[in-house]
Amino acid sequence: MEGVYRRVERWIEGPRDARIRRNLGPWTAGKVWRKAMKGGIFLFLAFLNAHVFVAYFIPARELLSVVRGNPADHWTAFLWIMSWTVVLLFDYAWFREQTCLIVCPYGRLQSALIDADTVIIGYDEVRGEPRSKRTDQGGDCIDCFRCVAACPTGIDIRNGLQMECIGCANCVDACDDVMRRIGRPEGLVRYDSERGFRTGRRRGFFRARVALYAVLALAGVGVFGAVSLRRTPFEVRVLRSTGLPYQLDGAVIRNIFTLRIQNKMSERAVFFVRIPEETDESPGVAEAGAAAALPDFTVPQPRLEIDALADVKTPIIAAMPRDRWEGPFPLTVSVADSATGRTRSVRVRFRGP
Ligand code: SF4
Ligand code: SF4
Repeated sequence: MEGVYRRVERWIEGPRDARIRRNLGPWTAGKVWRKAMKGGIFLFLAFLNAHVFVAYFIPARELLSVVRGNPADHWTAFLWIMSWTVVLLFDYAWFREQTCLIVCPYGRLQSALIDADTVIIGYDEVRGEPRSKRTDQGGDCIDCFRCVAACPTGIDIRNGLQMECIGCANCVDACDDVMRRIGRPEGLVRYDSERGFRTGRRRGFFRARVALYAVLALAGVGVFGAVSLRRTPFEVRVLRSTGLPYQLDGAVIRNIFTLRIQNKMSERAVFFVRIPEETDESPGVAEAGAAAALPDFTVPQPRLEIDALADVKTPIIAAMPRDRWEGPFPLTVSVADSATGRTRSVRVRFRGP
């Protein structure tokens, strides 16, 4: 908001006062082109951001083909991009800091996390009060309301820290400017702790609360690290073909599965599909031995070469004579990555009548 959208707004429509004056005035050619240009740039930025957002969920290559292709062929991605464009445009063009006030939990957390020694943005009451419009009377605050006018969430920092404060420091800059003009020291509104504003002294950085937060943050980093290390470079899923759980073809029971392998690495990789192995529950394992226990498998593509961040689907067909059928049993399908030798196994059930 501050780094991009407001800069664009200031660049096209000028400072806040000029914008307010123009908004209240009649529609002139200058007002129309400024509004149209700002709206166009905001729309473009929202559209761009919507693509970035969607790229969190679908691989970049796929997104590129969505962008180049016909929307009707990728309508889900297309709808997400369009919806997010509208949401982001609404947020940045109109809703703005209300997101911070109404939607974001930061302000509510802030009051629970800080103590009297936390550095915040505040107003030096000792120095500023009593307020007076005259510089030769009262405290340093001349009640000019520049800090309130500069605040994007519209609060008066002189009333103390409030939940709505997003810590942007606009009020600090506005007040420092006033102080320079009237020849008083800067820092009437500044970064300091509650204790610092009251007594002029600040406690050191290392406090029990800070140590506790550091421990919690380290625990968070530790969990993140452990989860990252367990991340697998590829995903394997086996899905039963939709519609029929099995097919009866004369005296043969057939199960058709779809194997989906997703390459999560940034380079092309070769995977090998291993046909299912017997399990203790396979029929006839105990009596007839493993060779007789398993169905016959057809794996049309046991070797698969998959592009970076892409996925492929390939069928696996399992068939066994009906006279050997004794009930459903599990099968394990394994896929090995040829480069690292890592294997992932997935269990499916062979079903019959
Ligand atoms: S830092 Fe100042 S200007 Fe920014 S939100 Fe807080 S009170 Fe308003
Ligand atoms: S900008 Fe400074 S002097 Fe003006 S009202 Fe705010 S605190 Fe007082």
